[in-house]
Amino acid sequence: NVLGTADIGVTGLAVMGRNLARNLAHHGYVVAVHNRTESKTQELVENHAGEGAFVATGTTAEFVASLTKPRKAIIMVKAGPSTDAVIEDLAAHMEPGDMIVDGGNALFTDTRRREAALKERGILFVGTGISGGEEGALNGPSIMPGGSPEAYKSLGPILEDISAKVDGVPCCTHVGADGAGHFVKMVHNGIEYSDMQLIAEAYDLLRQALGRSPGELAEIFTEWNRGDLESYLIEITAEVLGHVDAKTGRPFVDVVADRAEQKGTGRWTVQNALELGVPVTGIAEAVFARGLSGDVTRRQAARDLEGPIGSAPNYSLVDDVRQALLASKIVAYAQGFDQMAAASKEFGWNINLGDMATIWRGGCIIRARFLDRIRDAYAKDPGLPTLLASPSFSEALAEAQGAWRRVVSTAASIGVPTPGFSSALAYYDGLRRDRLPAALIQGLRDFFGAHTYHRVDREGVYHTDWSGDR
Ligand code: NAP
Repeated sequence: NVLGTADIGVTGLAVMGRNLARNLAHHGYVVAVHNRTESKTQELVENHAGEGAFVATGTTAEFVASLTKPRKAIIMVKAGPSTDAVIEDLAAHMEPGDMIVDGGNALFTDTRRREAALKERGILFVGTGISGGEEGALNGPSIMPGGSPEAYKSLGPILEDISAKVDGVPCCTHVGADGAGHFVKMVHNGIEYSDMQLIAEAYDLLRQALGRSPGELAEIFTEWNRGDLESYLIEITAEVLGHVDAKTGRPFVDVVADRAEQKGTGRWTVQNALELGVPVTGIAEAVFARGLSGDVTRRQAARDLEGPIGSAPNYSLVDDVRQALLASKIVAYAQGFDQMAAASKEFGWNINLGDMATIWRGGCIIRARFLDRIRDAYAKDPGLPTLLASPSFSEALAEAQGAWRRVVSTAASIGVPTPGFSSALAYYDGLRRDRLPAALIQGLRDFFGAHTYHRVDREGVYHTDWSGDR
Protein backbone atom coordinates (compact mmCIF):
# COMPACT_ATOMS: atom_id res chain seq x y z
CA ASN A 1 0.00 0.00 0.00
CA VAL A 2 1.56 3.27 -1.16
CA LEU A 3 -1.08 5.63 0.29
CA GLY A 4 0.49 8.79 1.67
CA THR A 5 4.08 7.52 1.59
CA ALA A 6 5.79 9.85 -0.88
CA ASP A 7 7.40 13.16 0.12
CA ILE A 8 6.82 14.67 -3.29
CA GLY A 9 5.57 13.65 -6.73
CA VAL A 10 6.56 14.29 -10.33
CA THR A 11 4.11 13.94 -13.21
CA GLY A 12 5.37 14.15 -16.79
CA LEU A 13 8.33 11.83 -17.21
CA ALA A 14 9.99 12.98 -20.43
CA VAL A 15 13.68 13.97 -20.17
CA MET A 16 13.16 16.81 -17.70
CA GLY A 17 10.65 15.16 -15.37
CA ARG A 18 12.50 11.85 -15.32
CA ASN A 19 15.77 13.48 -14.37
CA LEU A 20 14.19 15.78 -11.81
CA ALA A 21 12.54 12.76 -10.16
CA ARG A 22 15.90 10.97 -10.06
CA ASN A 23 17.58 14.07 -8.62
CA LEU A 24 14.96 14.18 -5.84
CA ALA A 25 15.44 10.47 -5.14
CA HIS A 26 19.24 10.92 -5.03
CA HIS A 27 18.66 13.45 -2.26
CA GLY A 28 16.74 10.94 -0.15
CA TYR A 29 13.17 11.97 -0.94
CA VAL A 30 10.53 9.33 -1.55
CA VAL A 31 9.29 10.34 -5.02
CA ALA A 32 5.94 9.38 -6.49
CA VAL A 33 6.16 9.24 -10.28
CA HIS A 34 3.40 9.45 -12.86
CA ASN A 35 3.06 9.87 -16.60
CA ARG A 36 0.12 9.98 -18.99
CA THR A 37 1.63 7.08 -20.91
CA GLU A 38 2.14 4.64 -18.08
CA SER A 39 4.92 2.60 -19.69
CA LYS A 40 7.31 5.54 -19.11
CA THR A 41 6.64 5.34 -15.37
CA GLN A 42 7.50 1.64 -15.31
CA GLU A 43 10.58 2.29 -17.43
CA LEU A 44 11.87 4.91 -15.01
CA VAL A 45 11.38 2.77 -11.94
CA GLU A 46 12.88 -0.33 -13.55
CA ASN A 47 15.93 1.44 -14.99
CA HIS A 48 16.75 3.47 -11.89
CA ALA A 49 15.43 1.41 -8.99
CA GLY A 50 18.80 1.34 -7.24
CA GLU A 51 19.11 5.14 -7.15
CA GLY A 52 16.51 5.87 -4.50
CA ALA A 53 12.90 5.42 -3.44
CA PHE A 54 10.34 5.74 -6.23
CA VAL A 55 6.63 5.08 -5.94
CA ALA A 56 5.26 4.15 -9.36
CA THR A 57 1.63 5.18 -9.84
CA GLY A 58 -0.83 4.56 -12.67
CA THR A 59 -3.84 6.85 -12.43
CA THR A 60 -3.88 10.48 -11.30
CA ALA A 61 -5.98 9.42 -8.32
CA GLU A 62 -3.29 6.93 -7.30
CA PHE A 63 -0.58 9.50 -7.83
CA VAL A 64 -2.25 12.08 -5.60
CA ALA A 65 -3.16 9.49 -2.98
CA SER A 66 0.46 8.34 -2.76
CA LEU A 67 1.60 11.78 -1.51
CA THR A 68 2.02 12.74 2.15
CA LYS A 69 -0.32 15.57 3.20
CA PRO A 70 -0.12 18.45 2.56
CA ARG A 71 0.69 17.10 -0.88
CA LYS A 72 3.30 18.44 -3.28
CA ALA A 73 3.13 17.51 -6.95
CA ILE A 74 5.52 18.81 -9.61
CA ILE A 75 4.29 19.02 -13.20
CA MET A 76 6.90 18.59 -15.96
CA VAL A 77 4.75 18.41 -19.07
CA LYS A 78 4.68 20.20 -22.37
CA ALA A 79 3.90 23.86 -21.65
CA GLY A 80 0.57 25.30 -22.79
CA PRO A 81 -2.89 23.70 -22.77
CA SER A 82 -1.40 20.37 -21.54
CA THR A 83 -0.40 22.12 -18.33
CA ASP A 84 -3.97 23.34 -17.79
CA ALA A 85 -5.31 19.84 -18.39
CA VAL A 86 -2.87 18.28 -15.93
CA ILE A 87 -3.52 20.96 -13.29
CA GLU A 88 -7.27 20.37 -13.57
CA ASP A 89 -6.79 16.64 -13.27
CA LEU A 90 -4.56 16.95 -10.18
CA ALA A 91 -6.66 19.61 -8.47
CA ALA A 92 -9.77 17.45 -8.81
CA HIS A 93 -8.12 14.91 -6.50
CA MET A 94 -6.50 17.37 -4.10
CA GLU A 95 -7.58 19.16 -0.91
CA PRO A 96 -7.08 22.71 0.35
CA GLY A 97 -3.51 23.15 1.55
CA ASP A 98 -2.06 20.88 -1.15
CA MET A 99 0.43 22.26 -3.63
CA ILE A 100 0.96 22.04 -7.38
CA VAL A 101 4.33 23.10 -8.79
CA ASP A 102 4.68 23.78 -12.51
CA GLY A 103 8.30 23.29 -13.55
CA GLY A 104 7.64 23.65 -17.28
CA ASN A 105 8.39 26.71 -19.39
CA ALA A 106 5.02 28.40 -18.85
CA LEU A 107 4.25 31.93 -19.96
CA PHE A 108 4.18 34.00 -16.76
CA THR A 109 0.75 35.43 -17.49
CA ASP A 110 -0.61 31.87 -17.61
CA THR A 111 1.06 31.23 -14.26
CA ARG A 112 -0.59 34.32 -12.77
CA ARG A 113 -3.97 33.15 -14.03
CA ARG A 114 -3.47 29.59 -12.75
CA GLU A 115 -2.24 30.74 -9.36
CA ALA A 116 -5.23 33.01 -8.86
CA ALA A 117 -7.70 30.30 -9.89
CA LEU A 118 -6.16 27.66 -7.63
CA LYS A 119 -5.96 30.06 -4.70
CA GLU A 120 -9.77 30.26 -4.80
CA ARG A 121 -9.83 26.50 -4.28
CA GLY A 122 -7.29 26.68 -1.43
CA ILE A 123 -4.57 25.01 -3.48
CA LEU A 124 -1.10 26.53 -3.50
CA PHE A 125 0.35 26.95 -6.97
CA VAL A 126 4.02 27.57 -7.61
CA GLY A 127 5.18 28.36 -11.13
CA THR A 128 8.87 27.67 -11.14
CA GLY A 129 11.54 28.19 -13.76
CA ILE A 130 14.00 25.34 -14.07
CA SER A 131 17.09 25.83 -16.20
CA GLY A 132 19.93 23.58 -17.17
CA GLY A 133 18.34 21.14 -19.57
CA GLU A 134 18.29 17.44 -18.82
CA GLU A 135 21.78 17.40 -17.34
CA GLY A 136 20.88 20.21 -14.94
CA ALA A 137 17.61 18.54 -13.94
CA LEU A 138 19.57 15.44 -12.95
CA ASN A 139 22.62 16.92 -11.28
CA GLY A 140 21.42 20.28 -10.03
CA PRO A 141 19.56 22.92 -12.02
CA SER A 142 19.11 26.61 -11.38
CA ILE A 143 15.61 26.92 -9.93
CA MET A 144 13.45 30.05 -9.99
CA PRO A 145 10.26 29.54 -7.97
CA GLY A 146 7.46 32.08 -7.80
CA GLY A 147 4.28 31.66 -5.78
CA SER A 148 3.48 32.69 -2.25
CA PRO A 149 6.01 32.91 0.60
CA GLU A 150 3.83 30.37 2.42
CA ALA A 151 4.34 27.86 -0.40
CA TYR A 152 8.08 28.55 -0.47
CA LYS A 153 8.37 27.80 3.24
CA SER A 154 7.69 24.11 2.70
CA LEU A 155 8.80 23.72 -0.93
CA GLY A 156 11.90 25.94 -0.85
CA PRO A 157 14.13 23.68 1.26
CA ILE A 158 13.51 20.74 -1.11
CA LEU A 159 14.23 22.80 -4.23
CA GLU A 160 17.33 24.35 -2.66
CA ASP A 161 18.49 20.86 -1.75
CA ILE A 162 18.34 19.56 -5.34
CA SER A 163 19.58 22.75 -7.02
CA ALA A 164 23.13 23.41 -8.22
CA LYS A 165 25.48 24.91 -5.61
CA VAL A 166 28.20 27.51 -6.20
CA ASP A 167 30.57 28.11 -3.28
CA GLY A 168 28.04 26.22 -1.17
CA VAL A 169 25.22 28.64 -2.09
CA PRO A 170 22.12 27.04 -3.66
CA CYS A 171 21.13 28.23 -7.14
CA CYS A 172 17.54 28.61 -5.97
CA THR A 173 15.67 31.33 -4.14
CA HIS A 174 12.10 32.59 -3.86
CA VAL A 175 11.87 35.05 -6.74
CA GLY A 176 8.54 36.70 -5.90
CA ALA A 177 4.80 36.16 -5.94
CA ASP A 178 2.64 34.39 -8.57
CA GLY A 179 4.36 34.45 -12.00
CA ALA A 180 7.69 36.01 -10.91
CA GLY A 181 9.62 32.73 -11.21
CA HIS A 182 8.46 31.99 -14.73
CA PHE A 183 9.05 35.62 -15.67
CA VAL A 184 12.65 35.48 -14.54
CA LYS A 185 13.15 32.15 -16.32
CA MET A 186 11.78 33.78 -19.49
CA VAL A 187 14.28 36.65 -19.23
CA HIS A 188 17.02 34.12 -18.47
CA ASN A 189 16.18 32.44 -21.78
CA GLY A 190 16.09 35.80 -23.56
CA ILE A 191 19.57 36.57 -22.26
CA GLU A 192 20.62 33.10 -23.41
CA TYR A 193 19.42 34.02 -26.92
CA SER A 194 21.51 37.19 -26.94
CA ASP A 195 24.56 35.42 -25.50
CA MET A 196 24.42 32.85 -28.30
CA GLN A 197 23.85 35.49 -30.98
CA LEU A 198 26.90 37.46 -29.82
CA ILE A 199 29.05 34.32 -29.77
CA ALA A 200 27.85 33.47 -33.27
CA GLU A 201 28.72 36.99 -34.50
CA ALA A 202 32.22 36.73 -33.01
CA TYR A 203 32.76 33.39 -34.75
CA ASP A 204 31.36 34.64 -38.05
CA LEU A 205 33.37 37.84 -38.13
CA LEU A 206 36.66 36.11 -37.33
CA ARG A 207 35.98 33.45 -39.90
CA GLN A 208 34.93 35.86 -42.65
CA ALA A 209 37.53 38.52 -41.96
CA LEU A 210 40.54 36.36 -41.16
CA GLY A 211 39.67 33.11 -42.87
CA ARG A 212 40.27 31.10 -39.70
CA SER A 213 39.02 27.52 -39.74
CA PRO A 214 36.44 26.30 -37.21
CA GLY A 215 39.20 24.24 -35.56
CA GLU A 216 41.40 27.33 -35.15
CA LEU A 217 38.44 29.29 -33.85
CA ALA A 218 37.74 26.54 -31.31
CA GLU A 219 41.20 27.22 -29.87
CA ILE A 220 40.47 30.93 -29.66
CA PHE A 221 37.25 30.27 -27.73
CA THR A 222 39.10 27.89 -25.42
CA GLU A 223 41.58 30.66 -24.74
CA TRP A 224 38.79 33.19 -24.15
CA ASN A 225 37.24 30.81 -21.66
CA ARG A 226 40.23 31.37 -19.38
CA GLY A 227 39.43 35.09 -18.96
CA ASP A 228 36.48 37.41 -18.30
CA LEU A 229 34.31 35.55 -20.79
CA GLU A 230 34.56 32.26 -18.90
CA SER A 231 31.15 30.62 -19.16
CA TYR A 232 29.38 27.42 -20.08
CA LEU A 233 28.33 28.78 -23.48
CA ILE A 234 31.88 29.83 -24.46
CA GLU A 235 33.16 26.45 -23.27
CA ILE A 236 30.70 24.50 -25.41
CA THR A 237 31.26 26.86 -28.36
CA ALA A 238 34.85 25.59 -28.43
CA GLU A 239 33.57 22.02 -28.39
CA VAL A 240 31.02 22.54 -31.16
CA LEU A 241 33.51 24.43 -33.37
CA GLY A 242 36.14 21.75 -32.82
CA HIS A 243 33.74 18.93 -33.66
CA VAL A 244 34.27 17.12 -36.96
CA ASP A 245 31.33 15.43 -38.68
CA ALA A 246 31.97 11.69 -38.66
CA LYS A 247 30.12 11.07 -41.94
CA THR A 248 31.93 13.63 -44.08
CA GLY A 249 35.09 14.53 -42.17
CA ARG A 250 34.06 18.19 -42.51
CA PRO A 251 33.73 20.68 -39.65
CA PHE A 252 30.40 20.08 -37.94
CA VAL A 253 29.33 23.74 -38.35
CA ASP A 254 29.67 23.37 -42.12
CA VAL A 255 27.25 20.46 -42.42
CA VAL A 256 24.48 21.93 -40.25
CA ALA A 257 21.68 23.93 -41.91
CA ASP A 258 22.06 27.60 -40.96
CA ARG A 259 18.53 28.03 -39.63
CA ALA A 260 18.28 28.68 -35.88
CA GLU A 261 15.03 27.43 -34.43
CA GLN A 262 13.15 28.69 -31.39
CA LYS A 263 10.53 27.53 -28.98
CA GLY A 264 9.25 30.95 -27.99
CA THR A 265 10.76 32.17 -24.73
CA GLY A 266 12.96 34.70 -26.56
CA ARG A 267 9.95 36.02 -28.43
CA TRP A 268 7.94 36.24 -25.19
CA THR A 269 10.75 38.22 -23.57
CA VAL A 270 10.73 40.76 -26.38
CA GLN A 271 6.93 40.96 -26.51
CA ASN A 272 6.85 41.69 -22.78
CA ALA A 273 9.69 44.22 -23.08
CA LEU A 274 7.70 46.05 -25.74
CA GLU A 275 4.72 46.18 -23.38
CA LEU A 276 6.84 47.44 -20.49
CA GLY A 277 8.70 49.86 -22.77
CA VAL A 278 12.13 48.50 -21.84
CA PRO A 279 14.65 48.49 -24.70
CA VAL A 280 16.08 44.97 -24.74
CA THR A 281 17.80 45.45 -28.08
CA GLY A 282 20.30 42.63 -27.49
CA ILE A 283 17.55 40.05 -27.01
CA ALA A 284 15.37 41.50 -29.76
CA GLU A 285 18.21 41.42 -32.31
CA ALA A 286 18.90 37.81 -31.36
CA VAL A 287 15.26 36.82 -31.91
CA PHE A 288 15.12 38.71 -35.21
CA ALA A 289 18.43 37.18 -36.35
CA ARG A 290 16.92 33.73 -35.82
CA GLY A 291 13.93 34.85 -37.87
CA LEU A 292 16.19 36.00 -40.71
CA SER A 293 18.16 32.74 -40.58
CA GLY A 294 14.95 30.76 -40.95
CA ASP A 295 13.67 32.79 -43.89
CA VAL A 296 13.90 30.31 -46.74
CA THR A 297 13.64 33.00 -49.39
CA ARG A 298 16.62 34.84 -47.90
CA ARG A 299 19.30 34.08 -50.50
CA GLN A 300 16.97 34.09 -53.45
CA ALA A 301 15.46 37.45 -52.54
CA ALA A 302 18.84 39.02 -51.93
CA ARG A 303 20.67 37.75 -54.98
CA ASP A 304 20.91 41.20 -56.53
CA LEU A 305 21.94 43.11 -53.43
CA GLU A 306 25.44 44.53 -53.75
CA GLY A 307 28.10 43.84 -51.11
CA PRO A 308 31.10 45.98 -50.16
CA ILE A 309 34.45 45.94 -51.88
CA GLY A 310 36.21 46.37 -48.53
CA SER A 311 38.85 43.91 -47.40
CA ALA A 312 39.73 42.47 -44.02
CA PRO A 313 41.68 44.76 -41.70
CA ASN A 314 45.32 44.14 -41.01
CA TYR A 315 45.23 44.76 -37.28
CA SER A 316 44.76 42.24 -34.51
CA LEU A 317 41.07 41.61 -34.83
CA VAL A 318 40.96 38.61 -32.53
CA ASP A 319 41.41 40.49 -29.29
CA ASP A 320 39.17 43.30 -30.49
CA VAL A 321 36.38 40.81 -31.11
CA ARG A 322 36.88 39.36 -27.63
CA GLN A 323 36.40 42.83 -26.16
CA ALA A 324 33.40 43.61 -28.39
CA LEU A 325 31.83 40.35 -27.27
CA LEU A 326 32.35 41.17 -23.60
CA ALA A 327 31.04 44.73 -23.98
CA SER A 328 27.96 43.66 -25.94
CA LYS A 329 27.30 40.93 -23.42
CA ILE A 330 27.42 43.45 -20.56
CA VAL A 331 24.84 45.56 -22.40
CA ALA A 332 22.55 42.59 -23.13
CA TYR A 333 22.61 41.49 -19.47
CA ALA A 334 22.04 45.05 -18.25
CA GLN A 335 18.97 45.26 -20.49
CA GLY A 336 17.63 41.92 -19.23
CA PHE A 337 18.07 43.07 -15.62
CA ASP A 338 16.31 46.35 -16.49
CA GLN A 339 13.39 44.32 -17.76
CA MET A 340 13.21 42.31 -14.53
CA ALA A 341 13.34 45.54 -12.52
CA ALA A 342 10.50 47.04 -14.56
CA ALA A 343 8.32 43.93 -14.28
CA SER A 344 9.02 43.68 -10.57
CA LYS A 345 7.67 47.19 -10.18
CA GLU A 346 4.73 46.61 -12.48
CA PHE A 347 3.59 43.39 -10.78
CA GLY A 348 4.74 44.17 -7.22
CA TRP A 349 7.17 41.23 -7.09
CA ASN A 350 9.99 42.87 -5.19
CA ILE A 351 12.60 40.85 -7.08
CA ASN A 352 16.08 41.01 -5.60
CA LEU A 353 18.17 41.43 -8.75
CA GLY A 354 21.44 40.47 -7.07
CA ASP A 355 19.84 37.18 -6.03
CA MET A 356 18.94 36.45 -9.64
CA ALA A 357 22.60 36.79 -10.64
CA THR A 358 23.48 34.55 -7.69
CA ILE A 359 21.13 31.71 -8.67
CA TRP A 360 22.24 31.84 -12.32
CA ARG A 361 25.87 31.21 -11.40
CA GLY A 362 25.40 27.45 -11.54
CA GLY A 363 23.14 24.83 -13.07
CA CYS A 364 21.79 26.96 -15.92
CA ILE A 365 22.82 27.58 -19.51
CA ILE A 366 24.04 31.16 -18.96
CA ARG A 367 26.18 30.23 -15.94
CA ALA A 368 29.31 32.35 -16.04
CA ARG A 369 32.04 33.91 -13.97
CA PHE A 370 30.61 37.25 -15.08
CA LEU A 371 27.49 36.78 -12.89
CA ASP A 372 29.61 37.23 -9.75
CA ARG A 373 30.24 40.79 -10.92
CA ILE A 374 26.53 41.44 -11.38
CA ARG A 375 25.82 40.04 -7.91
CA ASP A 376 28.56 42.24 -6.43
CA ALA A 377 27.30 45.33 -8.26
CA TYR A 378 23.80 44.96 -6.77
CA ALA A 379 25.24 44.08 -3.35
CA LYS A 380 27.14 47.38 -3.36
CA ASP A 381 24.16 49.37 -4.60
CA PRO A 382 20.76 47.59 -4.61
CA GLY A 383 19.17 50.70 -6.15
CA LEU A 384 21.40 50.77 -9.26
CA PRO A 385 19.38 52.40 -12.05
CA THR A 386 21.17 50.18 -14.59
CA LEU A 387 24.06 47.75 -14.34
CA LEU A 388 25.98 50.02 -16.69
CA ALA A 389 26.06 52.64 -13.92
CA SER A 390 28.07 50.32 -11.70
CA PRO A 391 31.77 51.28 -11.75
CA SER A 392 32.81 47.71 -12.37
CA PHE A 393 30.86 47.65 -15.65
CA SER A 394 31.28 51.25 -16.75
CA GLU A 395 35.05 50.83 -16.42
CA ALA A 396 34.99 47.56 -18.37
CA LEU A 397 33.00 49.25 -21.14
CA ALA A 398 35.34 52.25 -21.19
CA GLU A 399 38.25 49.87 -21.61
CA ALA A 400 36.55 47.87 -24.36
CA GLN A 401 34.95 50.68 -26.33
CA GLY A 402 37.86 51.35 -28.69
CA ALA A 403 37.98 47.72 -29.75
CA TRP A 404 34.19 47.55 -29.87
CA ARG A 405 33.97 50.49 -32.27
CA ARG A 406 36.72 49.06 -34.50
CA VAL A 407 34.89 45.73 -34.64
CA VAL A 408 31.55 47.27 -35.58
CA SER A 409 33.12 49.43 -38.28
CA THR A 410 35.19 46.55 -39.63
CA ALA A 411 32.09 44.37 -39.79
CA ALA A 412 30.19 47.11 -41.61
CA SER A 413 33.00 47.75 -44.05
CA ILE A 414 33.45 44.12 -45.03
CA GLY A 415 29.70 43.39 -45.00
CA VAL A 416 29.44 40.91 -42.14
CA PRO A 417 26.19 41.35 -40.19
CA THR A 418 26.72 41.93 -36.48
CA PRO A 419 23.30 43.11 -35.25
CA GLY A 420 24.12 42.18 -31.65
CA PHE A 421 27.45 44.03 -31.47
CA SER A 422 26.13 47.03 -33.42
CA SER A 423 22.88 47.51 -31.54
CA ALA A 424 24.60 47.10 -28.17
CA LEU A 425 27.04 49.85 -29.15
CA ALA A 426 24.19 52.07 -30.38
CA TYR A 427 22.41 51.53 -27.05
CA TYR A 428 25.59 52.41 -25.13
CA ASP A 429 26.01 55.58 -27.15
CA GLY A 430 22.32 56.39 -26.74
CA LEU A 431 22.63 56.14 -22.96
CA ARG A 432 25.68 58.41 -22.97
CA ARG A 433 24.04 61.26 -24.86
CA ASP A 434 22.93 64.42 -23.08
CA ARG A 435 20.40 65.05 -25.81
CA LEU A 436 18.91 62.60 -28.26
CA PRO A 437 17.27 63.48 -31.58
CA ALA A 438 13.93 62.65 -29.98
CA ALA A 439 13.34 66.43 -29.84
CA LEU A 440 12.95 66.38 -33.62
CA ILE A 441 10.58 63.41 -33.37
CA GLN A 442 8.47 65.38 -30.90
CA GLY A 443 8.40 68.27 -33.37
CA LEU A 444 7.21 65.98 -36.15
CA ARG A 445 4.55 64.43 -33.93
CA ASP A 446 3.30 67.84 -32.93
CA PHE A 447 3.32 68.99 -36.57
CA PHE A 448 1.22 66.22 -38.07
CA GLY A 449 -0.87 65.16 -35.10
CA ALA A 450 -0.87 68.00 -32.55
CA HIS A 451 0.62 65.50 -30.07
CA THR A 452 2.20 68.36 -28.04
CA TYR A 453 5.67 68.49 -26.49
CA HIS A 454 7.54 69.53 -23.35
CA ARG A 455 10.18 72.28 -23.35
CA VAL A 456 13.60 72.28 -21.74
CA ASP A 457 13.21 75.82 -20.41
CA ARG A 458 9.64 75.88 -19.05
CA GLU A 459 7.16 73.58 -17.30
CA GLY A 460 3.96 72.54 -19.03
CA VAL A 461 2.72 71.04 -22.26
CA TYR A 462 3.05 72.95 -25.55
CA HIS A 463 1.66 72.88 -29.03
CA THR A 464 2.82 75.01 -31.95
CA ASP A 465 0.37 76.31 -34.51
CA TRP A 466 2.33 74.99 -37.48
CA SER A 467 0.02 76.46 -40.10
CA GLY A 468 0.45 79.91 -38.65
CA ASP A 469 4.24 79.62 -38.29
CA ARG A 470 4.88 78.39 -41.79
P1 NAP B 1 8.11 17.76 -23.30
O1 NAP B 1 8.53 17.09 -24.55
O2 NAP B 1 7.96 19.21 -23.30
O3 NAP B 1 6.72 17.11 -22.80
C1 NAP B 1 6.53 15.72 -22.80
C2 NAP B 1 5.81 15.31 -21.54
O4 NAP B 1 4.53 15.96 -21.43
C3 NAP B 1 5.50 13.82 -21.56
O5 NAP B 1 5.63 13.31 -20.25
C4 NAP B 1 4.04 13.80 -22.02
O6 NAP B 1 3.36 12.62 -21.65
C5 NAP B 1 3.51 14.98 -21.28
N1 NAP B 1 2.25 15.50 -21.83
C6 NAP B 1 2.09 16.19 -22.98
N2 NAP B 1 0.79 16.53 -23.14
C7 NAP B 1 0.12 16.03 -22.07
C8 NAP B 1 -1.25 16.06 -21.66
N3 NAP B 1 -2.17 16.68 -22.37
N4 NAP B 1 -1.55 15.44 -20.50
C9 NAP B 1 -0.62 14.83 -19.75
N5 NAP B 1 0.69 14.79 -20.09
C10 NAP B 1 1.05 15.37 -21.22
O7 NAP B 1 9.10 17.29 -22.11
P2 NAP B 1 10.48 17.91 -21.57
O8 NAP B 1 11.41 18.27 -22.68
O9 NAP B 1 10.93 16.96 -20.53
O10 NAP B 1 10.03 19.27 -20.89
C11 NAP B 1 9.09 19.32 -19.83
C12 NAP B 1 8.84 20.77 -19.47
O11 NAP B 1 10.05 21.36 -19.03
C13 NAP B 1 8.36 21.62 -20.65
O12 NAP B 1 7.42 22.56 -20.20
C14 NAP B 1 9.61 22.30 -21.13
O13 NAP B 1 9.33 23.55 -21.78
C15 NAP B 1 10.35 22.50 -19.81
N6 NAP B 1 11.81 22.61 -19.94
C16 NAP B 1 12.49 21.81 -20.79
C17 NAP B 1 13.88 21.90 -20.87
C18 NAP B 1 14.65 21.00 -21.80
O14 NAP B 1 15.88 21.20 -21.90
N7 NAP B 1 14.03 20.02 -22.43
C19 NAP B 1 14.56 22.81 -20.06
C20 NAP B 1 13.84 23.58 -19.17
C21 NAP B 1 12.46 23.47 -19.12
P3 NAP B 1 3.36 11.32 -22.63
O15 NAP B 1 4.62 10.57 -22.32
O16 NAP B 1 2.15 10.57 -22.24
O17 NAP B 1 3.33 11.82 -24.03
